[in-house]
Amino acid sequence: MIQPLFEVVDLSKRYGDTTVVNQLSFSIAPGECLGVIGPNGAGKTTTIRMCLGLTSPDSGSIRYFPNGQGASLAMPQDALAIKAQLGIVSQFDSLDPDFSCAENLLVFGRYFGLKDAVIRERIPKLLEFAALTHKADAKLSELSGGMKRRLSLARALVNDPQLLLLDEPTTGLDPQARHLMWERLQRLVQQGKSILLTTHFMDEAERLCNRLLVLDHGKKMTEGTPRDLIARNLEPDVVEVYGAGALALVESPQHAQLRAMAARVEVSGETVFFYTADAKGLLAALTDHPELRTLHRPANLEDLFLKLTGRQIREAA
Ligand code: ADP
Repeated sequence: MIQPLFEVVDLSKRYGDTTVVNQLSFSIAPGECLGVIGPNGAGKTTTIRMCLGLTSPDSGSIRYFPNGQGASLAMPQDALAIKAQLGIVSQFDSLDPDFSCAENLLVFGRYFGLKDAVIRERIPKLLEFAALTHKADAKLSELSGGMKRRLSLARALVNDPQLLLLDEPTTGLDPQARHLMWERLQRLVQQGKSILLTTHFMDEAERLCNRLLVLDHGKKMTEGTPRDLIARNLEPDVVEVYGAGALALVESPQHAQLRAMAARVEVSGETVFFYTADAKGLLAALTDHPELRTLHRPANLEDLFLKLTGRQIREAA
């Protein structure tokens, strides 16, 4: 096991009688993107806040190994030294509306004690990275949501951090803006940066993350590469069935044989999900029901997420 860049061991946090983060351990290697996924209230934001020294844990350790080697720094004792090596994009943009794009980068760089000359040299590259060169002097009110998110990312890079903490970096963006953001995040990982990312989008998690940690009720449910997690926990194929009468397939005794072709059957709203290793047989049997519509697809991360955390809606915590 190579030396991690960042390591969390047995981290716990309680609010009143509720344990919102429960003995959580994980590590991030240099050049790795770790995704933390979980329903609302799972403890993702609290975990990130503890990693940033904004919330103090009840127990456990958070350590950062500069350059992925040697002596470690510990949160919260070495909070300033650790933060100097972190880049942060929080859920809500905290850019300064009175400044232009370039000025936002300059002002933020000064927080790290960087000399203006150093920051000014970095600004064109950061703007280019954010696809905002043409907006260098534009005020924030002239930027789209996607542009603001990219400026937040550029700002998080001003101190040339080794580790980026990104809390739902693409929430609220349209598909084009998300794809551009993904492309930029992939570039950062290719450059050797490490990323800790929370997201509600399973396609985002599957694309960007080398490794995923599924969190629920503050506890780690499982951890692994997206492909491994799917292969370990799910049948390879899913047949979705919907249309009038689909729900009868789940209950009626006359469809027992059809159901037996699936390892697991789930219902969500009007749709029945058959998880199966025999999609061919199942689809052949379903041709007896021309009134139903079917969709055959490989099992994906969303299926895994719903299997582990359930299909019931969690209201925003
Ligand atoms: P997530 O980011 O996964 O949605 P959070 O970390 O925001 O989850 O919240 C986890 C749980 O901790 C929730 O039940 C939330 O209500 C509770 N919580 C978070 N912050 C506080 C706080 N400052 N005081 C009391 N409870 C809190």
